[in-house]
Amino acid sequence: MQCPVCNHLNSATDVRCFQCRTTLIQEAVGHSDSYRKTTGALDARMYSGVGAFFGFFLVAALLKFILPGVNLGDGEIYTISAVGAGIGGLIGRALLRARMK
Ligand SMILES: [Zn+2]
Repeated sequence: MQCPVCNHLNSATDVRCFQCRTTLIQEAVGHSDSYRKTTGALDARMYSGVGAFFGFFLVAALLKFILPGVNLGDGEIYTISAVGAGIGGLIGRALLRARMK
């Protein structure tokens, strides 16, 4: 984080400026760009994680219990469910992007 007083470049976690001891923490409390970027990345990870989780179990449950006449081995169901997890992750990210608008 750049010090607003002396422009010394401090690390993002520093509470005080290394050079002039100016308190930097109020910069972090406000929604600075780096703060928003960090929470945005966390949100994206959470949404895609939840999406992948539901995608996986939705596809697995669909193949195993709901669709009649589907006779796949557990390995095949697992593989297809992993694809479902990937799609679920993408849907989660798309939902997040739609919500941020
Ligand atoms: Zn400083």
